[in-house]
Amino acid sequence: MAGNGALDARDRGAMLSRLATERFDVLVIGGGVTGAGTALDAATRGLRVALVEARDLASGTSSRSSKLIHGGLRYLEQFDFKLVYEALRERDLLVSKLAPHLVKPVSFLYPLYKKVVERPYVGAGLVLYDSMEGTRRPVPRHRHLSARGALKRAPALSPDRLAGAMLYYDAQVDDARHTLTVARTAAAHSAVIGTRLSVVGLLRSAERVTGARVRDEESGRILEVSAEAVVICAGVWTDLVHELAGVQAGYKVRMSKGVHIVVPRAAVDADTGMILRTEKSVLFFIPWGEHWIVGTTDTDFDGDRAEPVATEEDIEYILAAANRVLARPLIRADVTGVYAGLRPLVDAAADNGAKPNGAKPNGAKPNGAKPNGGKPTTKLSREHVVDTPVPGLASIAGGKFTTYRLMARDVVDAAVADFDREVPGSVTEQVPLLGADGLAAVQPAVGRLAEDYGVPRATVEHLLGRYGTLATEVLDLIRADASLGRPLASGHPYLRAEVAYAVSHEGALHLEDVLMRRTRLFIESADSGVSVAADVAAIMGRMLGWSRRRRGAETRRYLDLVEAERTRPAVDSVPAPGLALAAAR
Ligand SMILES: Cc1cc2nc3c(=O)[nH]c(=O)nc-3n(C[C@H](O)[C@H](O)[C@H](O)COP(=O)(O)OP(=O)(O)OC[C@H]3O[C@@H](n4cnc5c(N)ncnc54)[C@H](O)[C@@H]3O)c2cc1C
Repeated sequence: MAGNGALDARDRGAMLSRLATERFDVLVIGGGVTGAGTALDAATRGLRVALVEARDLASGTSSRSSKLIHGGLRYLEQFDFKLVYEALRERDLLVSKLAPHLVKPVSFLYPLYKKVVERPYVGAGLVLYDSMEGTRRPVPRHRHLSARGALKRAPALSPDRLAGAMLYYDAQVDDARHTLTVARTAAAHSAVIGTRLSVVGLLRSAERVTGARVRDEESGRILEVSAEAVVICAGVWTDLVHELAGVQAGYKVRMSKGVHIVVPRAAVDADTGMILRTEKSVLFFIPWGEHWIVGTTDTDFDGDRAEPVATEEDIEYILAAANRVLARPLIRADVTGVYAGLRPLVDAAADNGAKPNGAKPNGAKPNGAKPNGGKPTTKLSREHVVDTPVPGLASIAGGKFTTYRLMARDVVDAAVADFDREVPGSVTEQVPLLGADGLAAVQPAVGRLAEDYGVPRATVEHLLGRYGTLATEVLDLIRADASLGRPLASGHPYLRAEVAYAVSHEGALHLEDVLMRRTRLFIESADSGVSVAADVAAIMGRMLGWSRRRRGAETRRYLDLVEAERTRPAVDSVPAPGLALAAAR
């Protein structure tokens, strides 16, 4: 039976004592979407599962993506048909069954500028893209638009040279919220989920890895977690975690930095997302509530993995690429938020002796990846690689947010392959995430819920879009304390109740967890959430027993973090070849 999956930050002691005393079948290292998905996959096979995350859930790449659940139109051009096919099927499964409250269809307008050749070329790609969908077809097929039709949907486009457009559909998600919900769903199936717990060593019994030594970052205490198999899902930290075991992965992870800017919705007049071709890749305008997310870049990176920072050049590149098609150019002052993330790409060319398609247990299995011979990161495959370098240890790298469920299935299969008992296959295709079950019956009841709880209709709609059927848990907090029904920050839809819920159900331990990931005020608000930091500290502090001094310290810690993001000089990235060209236009 599934529980409610509450990750109550006030129960940290109980969680730590379970980790230290129970013996697990599978210990997952890393709480990004891959680790959360792996914990869910293993837990729903009936295994005893623990997950440890060094910082907060989704604090790595999984809160810093383009937030698209998509096949990836551009991968068709790279002939990565298998990846696109699998990703589209995952997209449809998420939209229609697994997470319809979180993963929502979104349209993209693809403007055409070359009258004769471009429409048949892009059109053929979209026919192929649409034909790869499954039979569910929860998103509409693509359409052709004239130049007039394109300007009607997107008056922001400059009519100059515009020859027409294509309109196609994909899906989008709040990546951090989705990752958290996957982790909570794993917890509902008995997985123990712990954050601010860094793996600092791996336990060995002869050859076999038998668990991990973990440092509690809140107290500095060290504990040992025993498990029959350990699975590394550490994204761009994968190499470092392998080093802890004194082993080399059968593949090399290459970090590629991607930057996005956030601008107000009013700055770009369009009722659809947009996708533009750039010199080397594509640029998205992604609708995001009252904002647009615009990006991204793709540059080699070798700086601080924990806090990759956007440079002014990155921002200028995105503005220049966007302004090539806009009638009213975006300016630096339009930018309310900026974020950078690191893609954990697998560079099969730099493999450490693993054979392509090599067999387990000691070879990396690149899931069809071809050697990539020093390619620019835009050209590296987004497929994933599973490795089992020593008994009791499996690892996974590469892949996409969209395909996390398949990645999880593959790495759990590898991790349990040498168990001395039969382990059932993956069932996650049949397991809706928390908040998805019963959604169809709740959506028509918005008016009744608003009346019952004495809140505006818009509040119920806002909560349903973020928590699905779990919205009633947030509404119950408001019923118990009406002050929690007030908005958290003026001009933003979040409620004070969502801060309390983040602590009681979503494992939030610090202000940054609430302002950067449970809500997205860090990127959505022009002051990065600084003006509400003290309020958030007050609500969290009441629940977590913080003294006045501690509240002040927590608030300062957040302000320091914002300051560092704003001012840190970043000279870590190597400009992509297309960058200089596009910026010069
Ligand atoms: C700019 C950008 C745009 C993208 N856009 C899309 C998109 O639109 N659609 C899509 O499908 N994909 C997209 N991706 C790819 C996708 O975001 C990633 O593939 C995915 O988020 C990777 O998740 P992960 O769990 O593997 O890594 P992460 O989310 O980085 O998780 C790894 C975790 O491991 C933890 N960890 C590391 N070391 C330790 C340790 N010693 N102990 C405990 N924990 C540890 C880290 O703290 C981290 O939280 C994008 C990526 C980028 C960078």
